[in-house]
Amino acid sequence: MASLSRALRGVAATRPRQSPAPARGLRPLASGAGPTSEKSVPYQRTLKEAQDASAAARGPSRPLPSTASVVVIGGGSLGCQTLYHLAKLGVSGAVLLERERLTSGTTWHTAGLLWQLRPSDVEVELLAHTRRVVSRDLEEETGLHTGWIQNGGLFIASSRQRLDEYKRLMSLGKVYGIESHVLSPGETKALYPLMNVEDLYGTLYVPHDGTMDPAGTCTSLVRAATARGAQVIENCPVTGIRVRTDDFGVRRVAAVETEFGCIRTPCVVNCAGVWAGAVGRMAGVKVPLVAMHHSYVVTERIEGIQNMPNVRDHDASVYLRLQGDALSVGGYETNPIFWEEVSDKFAFGLFDLDWDVFTQHIEGAINRVPVLEKTGIKSTVCGPESFTPDHKPLMGEAPELRGFFLGCGFNSAGMMLGGGCGQQLASWIVHGRPEKDMHSYDIRRFHHSLTGHGRWIRERSHEAYAKNYSVVFPHDEPLAGRNMRTDPLHEELLARGCVFQERHGWERPGWFNAQGTAPVLPYDYYGAYGHRAHEDYTYGRLLGQEYTFSFPPHHDVVRAVRLSFVGELGWELHTPRPSCLPVYQALMTVGAKHGLVNAGYRAIDSLSIEKGYRHWHADLRADDSPLEAGLAFTCKLKSSIPFLGREALEKQQAEGLRRRLLGFTVDEKVPMFGLEAIWRNGQVVGHVRRADFGFTINKTLAYGYIRDPSGGPVSLDFVKSGDYALERMGVTYAAQAHLKSPFDPDNKRVKGIY
Ligand SMILES: Cc1cc2nc3c(=O)[nH]c(=O)nc-3n(C[C@H](O)[C@H](O)[C@H](O)COP(=O)(O)OP(=O)(O)OC[C@H]3O[C@@H](n4cnc5c(N)ncnc54)[C@H](O)[C@@H]3O)c2cc1C
Repeated sequence: MASLSRALRGVAATRPRQSPAPARGLRPLASGAGPTSEKSVPYQRTLKEAQDASAAARGPSRPLPSTASVVVIGGGSLGCQTLYHLAKLGVSGAVLLERERLTSGTTWHTAGLLWQLRPSDVEVELLAHTRRVVSRDLEEETGLHTGWIQNGGLFIASSRQRLDEYKRLMSLGKVYGIESHVLSPGETKALYPLMNVEDLYGTLYVPHDGTMDPAGTCTSLVRAATARGAQVIENCPVTGIRVRTDDFGVRRVAAVETEFGCIRTPCVVNCAGVWAGAVGRMAGVKVPLVAMHHSYVVTERIEGIQNMPNVRDHDASVYLRLQGDALSVGGYETNPIFWEEVSDKFAFGLFDLDWDVFTQHIEGAINRVPVLEKTGIKSTVCGPESFTPDHKPLMGEAPELRGFFLGCGFNSAGMMLGGGCGQQLASWIVHGRPEKDMHSYDIRRFHHSLTGHGRWIRERSHEAYAKNYSVVFPHDEPLAGRNMRTDPLHEELLARGCVFQERHGWERPGWFNAQGTAPVLPYDYYGAYGHRAHEDYTYGRLLGQEYTFSFPPHHDVVRAVRLSFVGELGWELHTPRPSCLPVYQALMTVGAKHGLVNAGYRAIDSLSIEKGYRHWHADLRADDSPLEAGLAFTCKLKSSIPFLGREALEKQQAEGLRRRLLGFTVDEKVPMFGLEAIWRNGQVVGHVRRADFGFTINKTLAYGYIRDPSGGPVSLDFVKSGDYALERMGVTYAAQAHLKSPFDPDNKRVKGIY
């Protein structure tokens, strides 16, 4: 076998191209050809091998029941995890229907990497649950080894910003007991001798990361679920969803149709991967995802690679997965191939790898592990995966149809998120809500005008794929799919230098640029697919200037406008759309002599944190109680008026609070953004949910929930008796805890007392 680099050059020269040369636009680059036939993939065993190859032709693997409590559609990572967690919650009579055989869609050829640290506390918890399931629970329950390999994970930082991001992850990891270490280049070399560390700033090493085996995981999940009464039926494609309209005019799931009969059920879970859109259409439910090719290559044996951790070189956009005594090399391109016509005949299939697309990863991989230059390629793996407009999965009950749940759109993270998400889906179905705050995964986060908008879905999903390994900066914004929903003030604010943010498809004011206008231009696909990349793009340049974990350059503009969100006497104006512009212009004219200026949400964010006003989804989420959040005054506990949740709050009040939201100020002038660890008397007791700089008090403020590590209630004495510090990127800063907001604690200003 030729060396990796020479093999690639040779293959690129001789291999007939699957797609025609790109003209302008997207379609010519998209794969019109269907999947190729089965290929060998680098797994020791697959479910396919264990079964009779002609099984598909023989009909369903077992008779269909006439009714089911829940029907899960799709037997990949998500379907199997959801079924398992439903069974663990005691749901009897749940049925999984798989069109072909388990794992035959995307799951069978996954790389299976599980990294524990992500820049979101909820995702860290979801990943931790998956890891618990595959490394412990399933083996205890079934006696089967899932194939989990704990070889560790290593994130590469080629810039200071990147290392700063890792240090933030390290601090967050301490809150959840996830061991991680920031290593110098020398320490990295000692850990991974084959690695080139000359261009490194440092690395983040997470020893308990590892690799999941798709076949072993799904086999064990199904074994455990069926032992608890669930049923799995393979070779049984779902062909339709029957819907009924109840007495109140609400559309509800009634039954699932297959070629082999019908199952009456009130609840369906769409875990059909890239086919989820087709299943959604059967029910009149929009599923905003696109299918793309995603690939890796498997090398020949590499001496000395055994037992090395998996590697993510974000700046080179490549990952290196340990594959026994070889490596799998994969990555994320700026010009991924869309799978336009998703075939329903696809099972255990792969596409031909497009070397023109894949070659861009080779340089980065060889730079990181130079021995790869002389290493041959054993096989290529290029399969379909679904991507969504904000790179987050699509979960929860579809707004169009009661009883129709989504568990799809996993953006190349469906193995590692599968356990956590399967558990949350099961809770959503059984209890009507997930246990964790899943708002960023909830399908209802998208406005209905967007979920069927093809251009928006395609543009946003492309950008999300291309930026998968980008640093997650606090003030970044998408460039794709913009200007979808604008209000009547939009043009006027734009002319006044407004730098817009995008939220739920709406353009909203972020801040105002004194140097002039910064319109968001039509998406240029970063120059991919023959698009001309924008040159001298003011909006893009301003965003780029804020790619920092330090104070952004526009820090002096992030001044207050008097709004009721921020604890000042203020007014929120509700006017009919046609009046918005004249009212705004009149206010600006009158206010000019008082120094009235424009401000956006960035000002609201800073002012509201100073005042201690809670932000939904940051200070306050679905998994927090009003008592924990210091909002007891909003509940009628002193009255005898009944309200939903009263008993639960009274119980919590009687037992004492196990968590409590505290405000913190940091004397040192250091920027914080959330996810920093909270230390009390030398122990980590929580993490920061939201932080910002407070310009009135001239200090950084942070809010986060703390616990007593001994498990006891967090009393006021416990709060007051602690010495606190906040840890940012591995460095701790002394902090003062506050039970009342440090700005206007007596709440005088909203009463007009200045
Ligand atoms: C190259 C590659 C590398 C990856 N690496 C990683 C990684 O390192 N870590 C990670 O976490 N994730 C990774 N992923 C992503 C991960 O593999 C996927 O997110 C995950 O496998 C998706 O699982 P799923 O259950 O949603 O979909 P699938 O596995 O596709 O399952 C959907 C199932 O639904 C069935 N189905 C479809 N229509 C019907 C119907 N009408 N009736 C009945 N059944 C139907 C299909 O046959 C299929 O089996 C990778 C993906 C790729 C392509």
